[in-house]
Amino acid sequence: MTIGVLGAGQLGRMLALAGYPLGLEFLFLDKSPGTPAHQVAPSLFGEFTDRALLEELAGRCEVVTFDWENVPAAALDVLESRVTIAPPRAALATAQDRLLEKELFARLSIPTNANVAVDSLEDLHRAVHAIGLPGVLKTRRLGYDGKGQFVLRGPDDVDKAWAVLGSAPLLYEQLVPFDYEVSAIGVRSRSGEFAMYPLNRNLHRAGILRLTRAPWKAPKLEAAARRMLRKIMEHFDYVGVLAIEFFVRRGSLLANEMAPRVHNSGHWTIEGAVTSQFENHLRAILGLPLGDTAALGHCAMLNLIGTMPDRATLLGETGLHLHDYGKVARTGRKLGHITIVEGTTKRAELRALRLLRRIESRKLEDH
Ligand code: AMP
Repeated sequence: MTIGVLGAGQLGRMLALAGYPLGLEFLFLDKSPGTPAHQVAPSLFGEFTDRALLEELAGRCEVVTFDWENVPAAALDVLESRVTIAPPRAALATAQDRLLEKELFARLSIPTNANVAVDSLEDLHRAVHAIGLPGVLKTRRLGYDGKGQFVLRGPDDVDKAWAVLGSAPLLYEQLVPFDYEVSAIGVRSRSGEFAMYPLNRNLHRAGILRLTRAPWKAPKLEAAARRMLRKIMEHFDYVGVLAIEFFVRRGSLLANEMAPRVHNSGHWTIEGAVTSQFENHLRAILGLPLGDTAALGHCAMLNLIGTMPDRATLLGETGLHLHDYGKVARTGRKLGHITIVEGTTKRAELRALRLLRRIESRKLEDH
């Protein structure tokens, strides 16, 4: 049985590595060779809009899924009539556009921060007047890891933000003085079976996820996140893994964004949960029973960004799991991650932070 995957990044690579023990095969489509997934699985190369390539992918696979949510609508048009795709197209379309995402949250009564669409400098002035400062101006599409964002702290920033981002459709939103950030990862199968992983506590730096600690024990938040995940999944008749990122403010959740795919904050589930998010995504899209999402210990997952630390240094740590995505090093690029599984959250976190200090010789703080 062959799974087609659009996008051949590290998420696709980890999907393939989770699928091989189940006897699954993979075929990726991405622009060029040498990608993290291509190193472990066969791939087709070309544009996501290349009709002949999409038809070949559809013809050779039982189901097509995504390692990247920004797949163009034209690709989905070609695929949808020929092969089952999961997660559903409507969920992808919503996650591709921050405004549609915020509108969905509002429609489903999922709390989120104040926001308004911005298409002109006048709109931005109006938005700043209505929502106030500080705020964040974000491109509606194609933003990730803090890219396509401008934080406005004073009135002078309005023109500066517009000069940087003004050429694209935008969203202005309140800058949330959050206490910390969490994410919830759920999975829903073809039969409607649902499971959720324990909550993740996430620390970002410069918009990029740096550290995840899981399970994050916050029963009230977890129950609320579970309700929101289920609402979104039922709304789309969703199939596969879905993640929602939240700000936590005064003990309540505010949804920031959703990702209709396996998620960076769920990488700890490879070694730290009975069934990884990658295996569960495959089980879900193939209509197989879902696996147990319970944690096996307390995990800290650290993203390796920009430069790859010395392999021997990392592997000298007892119980450390290293994932090297096989990428060329570049500033700000996610090159790999490590997961430490320990008996207590504190111990996992301390070891990860100690390691980070050794890698970076810098201190990590929550904001
Ligand atoms: P995003 O691309 O929206 O997930 O943003 C990346 C990270 O930037 C988030 O995880 C937050 O740490 C920070 N961030 C984004 N939007 C806001 C906001 N409205 N208020 C506070 N922090 C934000």
